[in-house]
Amino acid sequence: MLENLKPMKVFRYFEEISAIPHGSGNVEAIGDYCMKFAENHKLRAVKEPCGNVIIYADGTAGYESSEPVILQGHLDMVCEKSNDCVKDMEEEAITLCTDGEWVWADGTTLGGDDGIAIAYVLAILDSDDIPHPPLEILLTVDEETGMTGAENLDGSLLKGKKLINIDSEEEGFITVSCAGGVRCACEYEMEFTDTEEGMCAVEIKVDKLLGGHSGVEINKRRLNGHKVLAEVLNYAYKQAEFFICDIKGGNKTNVIPKSACAVVVTKAENKDIIINAASEYFRDIFWNENGSFEAEAELCACESFEAVPAKHMTAASTKKVIFALMNSPDGVVTVMKNDPDMVKSSLNMGELYIDNNSVKMGYLIRSNSLSGKKAIMEKLRSFTEYLGGKAVFDSDYPSWEYREASPLRDVMVEAFREMYGREPVITSIHAGLECGLLSEKITDGDMVSIGPDLENVHTPDERMNVASVERTWNYLLSVLKKLK
Ligand SMILES: [Zn+2]
Repeated sequence: MLENLKPMKVFRYFEEISAIPHGSGNVEAIGDYCMKFAENHKLRAVKEPCGNVIIYADGTAGYESSEPVILQGHLDMVCEKSNDCVKDMEEEAITLCTDGEWVWADGTTLGGDDGIAIAYVLAILDSDDIPHPPLEILLTVDEETGMTGAENLDGSLLKGKKLINIDSEEEGFITVSCAGGVRCACEYEMEFTDTEEGMCAVEIKVDKLLGGHSGVEINKRRLNGHKVLAEVLNYAYKQAEFFICDIKGGNKTNVIPKSACAVVVTKAENKDIIINAASEYFRDIFWNENGSFEAEAELCACESFEAVPAKHMTAASTKKVIFALMNSPDGVVTVMKNDPDMVKSSLNMGELYIDNNSVKMGYLIRSNSLSGKKAIMEKLRSFTEYLGGKAVFDSDYPSWEYREASPLRDVMVEAFREMYGREPVITSIHAGLECGLLSEKITDGDMVSIGPDLENVHTPDERMNVASVERTWNYLLSVLKKLK
C-alpha cells in the first residue's frame, strides 16, 4: 500500500508494524516482531519482563568508540475507531490509506503515534550505509496507559546518556522539558444538622464553561467551574443566609471542570433573594469579567424540584466550603524564565464532591521542576490545614527538567539549521512524557524529543504527513552522523 512512498524502508517497516495489532496492553506480538528483527539482523536484544524491547547496534566505521546514543519510542498505540467501523482492533490489522501526501487508516487510529518511531529505528538498523554511533534502541510498552514501560525500565541495561525520544508530533519543534506531577486529595470534615420545618431548597448550577486539559490548556484562561460556583454562592450569601446540603463538580483531576452544582436550603422568605442574587452576580460581574472568552457559560438558579434535604451544613461549615473553593490556589502558578508563554508550575482542582460528611477536593499539581512541584504542595497543604482540613498526596511522577547545558540539544540545533536554513523552536510541554520517568533511570541524561507532523492523534482522524516523515528522517540521520 505504501510502497511508493519515500523513504521506502521507513514506510515498508511502518506497513509491517501496522499489520500487527498493537494497542496498549496488547504489545506482546509487536515486541516479539522487534526481537525477531534483531535476531535476523544478528543484533543483541533484550526483552524486559514488562515487555520493553532494547536492541543494541555497534557504531559504524569510524564511530566504533563513540558514545552510545539511545533512540526511543513506544510500542503501543491508542485504539480508537469511528462509530461505523466494525474492525476488532485487538485482532485485526488496521487498513492503511494514502493519497501520496498523507497516510491514515480507514476508520481507526493510524498508530503513527508512535509506530513512526519503530519504523525509523528499524530502517536505520536495516541499512548499512547510514553512519551512526553505537545505538541503544529503547522501545517501551504502554506509554499511552500510564507509561508503565518507562516506569519499569531497568536503567542498568542502558549505557548511553544522550537520548532522542521520537514521540513528538510537530516537525521543527525540539522538546527539551516536560512536567512532573502529583495528585492531592484535600478533605474538610463538615458539621451537618437537621433541616428545620418550612425551609426550601434551591439549586444553583454553573455549566458550559470551556473546561480543558489541566496541563496544556491551563494557560488559556479556562475558568474552573468550582471557583465560579463559589463566587456565585459567596455573592448570594451576603444577601441572605443559606446552608449547603450538597455540592459537586468535576471528577477528574486532570480536567478543568466545566460545571459545578450546589443544593442549599434557606428560609422560605429568602428563596427569591438568593435566586435573584445569583442571577445578578452573573449579569453584573461574571459577564463583565469573563464574557468575552467564556461566552457559552450558563447559570441556573431555581427552587429544587427534589424533596428538601433532611440535613444541611451549619453556617460555619457552609462559609468554610465557600471560602476554600473561592480562595484555594488553582491555575497557573509560575512560568518559564526564558519563555513566559510556557507554564512551569500549575495546579487544577478537578474533583469536588461530598463523601461521608466531608467535602473532598482533588487536585493535580504539575511542574517542569521538582522544586516548583514541592512549592505548590506546601502552599496547598498549608492552605488546607489552616482551614482544619487535611491534604494527602499520591501518584507522584517526575518531571524532565530543562538543562542549561545540553550538548545533544546543541547538535540538534546545528543540524536543524544546516538542513532547514532556519532555527528550530525549542520548547517544553506542561504535561507528562516518558522522558520524565526516563530521566530518573538515566543519571545525568541529556534528552530531546522530536517527530514528524502528525495530526489528530488518538482519534480515527489521525494522519501522518509523508513529506514531513522524509524530512524528519533526513534530519535524524544528519544528527546521528554528527554524534561522532
Ligand atoms: Zn506517543
